[in-house]
Amino acid sequence: TAHPQPNPEAGAAVKAADRAHVFHSWSAQELIDPLAVAGAEGSYFWDYDGKRYLDFTSGLVFTNIGYQHPKVVAAIQEQAARMTTFAPAFAVEARSEAARLIAERTPGDLDKIFFTNGGADAVEHAVRMARLHTGRPKVLSAYRSYHGGTQQAVNITGDPRRWPSDSGAAGVVHFWAPFLYRSRFYAETEEQECARALEHLETTIAFEGPSTIAAVVLETIPGTAGIMVPPPGYLAGVRELCDKYGIVFILDEVMAGFGRTGRWFAADHFDVVPDLMTFAKGVNSGYVPLGGVAISAEIAETFARRPYPGGLTYSGHPLACAAAVATIRAMEEEGVVENARRLGEQVVGPGLRALAERHPSVGDVRGVGMFWALELVKDRETREPLVPYNAAGEANAPMAAFASAAKSYGLWPFLNMNRTHVVPPCTVTEEELKEGLAALDAALSVADEYVAA
Ligand code: PLP
Repeated sequence: TAHPQPNPEAGAAVKAADRAHVFHSWSAQELIDPLAVAGAEGSYFWDYDGKRYLDFTSGLVFTNIGYQHPKVVAAIQEQAARMTTFAPAFAVEARSEAARLIAERTPGDLDKIFFTNGGADAVEHAVRMARLHTGRPKVLSAYRSYHGGTQQAVNITGDPRRWPSDSGAAGVVHFWAPFLYRSRFYAETEEQECARALEHLETTIAFEGPSTIAAVVLETIPGTAGIMVPPPGYLAGVRELCDKYGIVFILDEVMAGFGRTGRWFAADHFDVVPDLMTFAKGVNSGYVPLGGVAISAEIAETFARRPYPGGLTYSGHPLACAAAVATIRAMEEEGVVENARRLGEQVVGPGLRALAERHPSVGDVRGVGMFWALELVKDRETREPLVPYNAAGEANAPMAAFASAAKSYGLWPFLNMNRTHVVPPCTVTEEELKEGLAALDAALSVADEYVAA
């Protein structure tokens, strides 16, 4: 199998062409310095100097099955040899089998699968389906959420990074979902926070006008915005409000789905069934771009004799679907979802809580499965974030110092504002997690230096 083979000259050539011609997302082009990656396997990747990193990011939280899983690689190769591509209007084995395997695992009656190329377009289509199904225009979504970088998805996103690209499209209204750590002036317990958030949502619905609202969109467990596990009862409460007012309930499981939380879907933790559920990333670990919307029987019925106006040239691409089939089968055969659940409970949760006791820079630890966040703060009492929202340059120095320390210890950390997320592949081993936690421990000592005296 592949192994780090130092080749700095090849790395320099990759980097030079990247600098000259690749326009990178979410970046000021001249202020970034992307690592040239030579290879990857399992939970690790390595650069052209032969330095190896333990990947606590799963790419962008998508390699749930790790890098270069041999069964998934083989399935893509076989599909390429047999039928590399075929237009979406045809019934194709890889596509129908992927849809069947997904529908069998999604909760309730979400049994029809609309395929997209990724998560953002899945969200766009879910919203379109909800608008056509209800005949209503508005969508309610949460602050502190991420739903994708295309136009409607970025409008729906509730992350401050959306400002520059948000068109301010009419019909998107944001509300505050539960987050006790930063809502403590209004609620002291999870129960109070749940009640606050549900009352706030119902008031928002009342003031916007229930008959104008097509959908409420939520990440089951918001990911990019901070891995905020909702209090028990919140999602069931949202389900009730949606039923009461005839609103379509969309759960976005693009990041939380396919084993990430230690269940097939995060919704399984809360016993809720949405009307539409979006997925991408973990469905095939991102080996070939794929996303989709799982659709309830009632909404599928709306489009039974009326055309659904929307689609994409590469919807349900055979290579992507073959990768999904192999991924889902391998996850089942190898107990990957169970691995994420067990190691999350036994290793990551206790390990991160122990780090929080030792490091004053850790303000909060939260998560489930292989889906955790450490919130870094200047002051545990005031909970002032270690860096301000959208910090860049000097203002972001504490997080940059933390990250470069982690990398020097062989750990590639996930960073978002003042947080580091611990989101390794769901196939990670106990030994790898211990290695990563030790590196985090050392890197957090660097973050501690920025804590208010
Ligand atoms: N929805 C959620 C919850 C996500 O986390 C993401 C990406 O991180 C998206 C949607 C957008 O997915 P994509 O980047 O595949 O378009």
